[in-house]
Amino acid sequence: MQFFAYGARAGDKPLESLRINRRTPGVEDIQIEIAYCGICHSDLHQVRAEWEGTQFPCVPGHEIVGRVATVGSQVTDFSPGDLVGVGCIVDSCKHCDECEAGLENYCDGMIGTYNFPTPDAPGWTLGGYSQAIVVHQRYVLRIRHPEAQLAAVAPLLCAGITTWSPLRHWQAGPGKKVGIVGIGGLGHMGIKLAHALGAHVVAFTTSESKREAAKALGADEVVISSDAQQMAAHLKSIDLIINTVAAPHDLDALLVLLKRDGAMVLVGAPALPHPSPNVFNLIMKRRTLTGSMIGGIPETQEMLDFCAEHSIVSDIELIRAEQINDAYERMLKGDVKYRFVIDNATLAD
Ligand code: NAP
Ligand code: ZN
Repeated sequence: MQFFAYGARAGDKPLESLRINRRTPGVEDIQIEIAYCGICHSDLHQVRAEWEGTQFPCVPGHEIVGRVATVGSQVTDFSPGDLVGVGCIVDSCKHCDECEAGLENYCDGMIGTYNFPTPDAPGWTLGGYSQAIVVHQRYVLRIRHPEAQLAAVAPLLCAGITTWSPLRHWQAGPGKKVGIVGIGGLGHMGIKLAHALGAHVVAFTTSESKREAAKALGADEVVISSDAQQMAAHLKSIDLIINTVAAPHDLDALLVLLKRDGAMVLVGAPALPHPSPNVFNLIMKRRTLTGSMIGGIPETQEMLDFCAEHSIVSDIELIRAEQINDAYERMLKGDVKYRFVIDNATLAD
């Protein structure tokens, strides 16, 4: 079946309207009519070939929400009309230790929502900047928020889970001081989630203009990261830092803020490497520098349910399909509060 989509034909070309095919749903597949799709900075890295291996045409998008259109005969938990989401994963091997543990994100056979190999035409997955998607039931999430919030739920499918997973793994909660670095799509969700989990939240930003907004999102303190004096006030005091910055930067300035046994989790994935950190900043306080990639399907459902229960959604700017290229430029300038979401109904206009 053919659908309208938005994607790029080359890394140096803007995104444009395209027609794509979706497979006929199999017995365990769910066909979803996509209502909204968030714009993640990863979409930009991939579609502009900043990361290696982009296949063209490339249709990005892995913050997908919509309604079930049809279900295969062996689909057990979903029916037409249900509100659902699809994040960054559309398949995995389903039997390795990682899949058994519900950590499909770490399966060596994980298939991402775009730019991963698939038997479907054209040979690689095409993402959520499209009218519809067909996904195996295992990777479809249930949305329990009110329908009126659907557009603002979309960014939870990547920005939400990518910050939730490390916050939970490193046990953010009451009595813990958590730093969130970079107040973009991921960072603003990190602030909301860490705050809702009961942690003391310190937001680190390069943008003075985000100071008040970061507080409104739930930050207890806001630090302008270029101000040495403000940074020094937090030396050796933070339990956990979630670093979402999308560009190479000085990690040492942040590592020294960790207390003994503190951890900094890199989730930002810049195309170029960070300058190497000073090993002594790790040795001296037994600090950990680590990373984390999105999250597994069960923990994504856990995060969505937690957000529905606590009325947490993303702060979004809803755009039409033809505004996607402008949105990319604004995202690069940090000029988004805090996530662009595409109204997929406009793909057909
Ligand atoms: P975003 O909305 O563009 O936010 C990134 C923020 O980083 C900016 O708003 C800005 O915040 C800060 N920043 C940007 N350039 C900077 C620089 N040169 N120095 C210091 N700070 C800078 O991006 P996003 O969608 O949140 O994604 C962030 C990164 O995470 C991307 O690299 C993306 O590919 C990656 N990602 C990783 C995963 C994963 O599984 N690990 C999942 C999704 C996305 P301030 O204005 O507050 O400084
Ligand atoms: Zn993403």
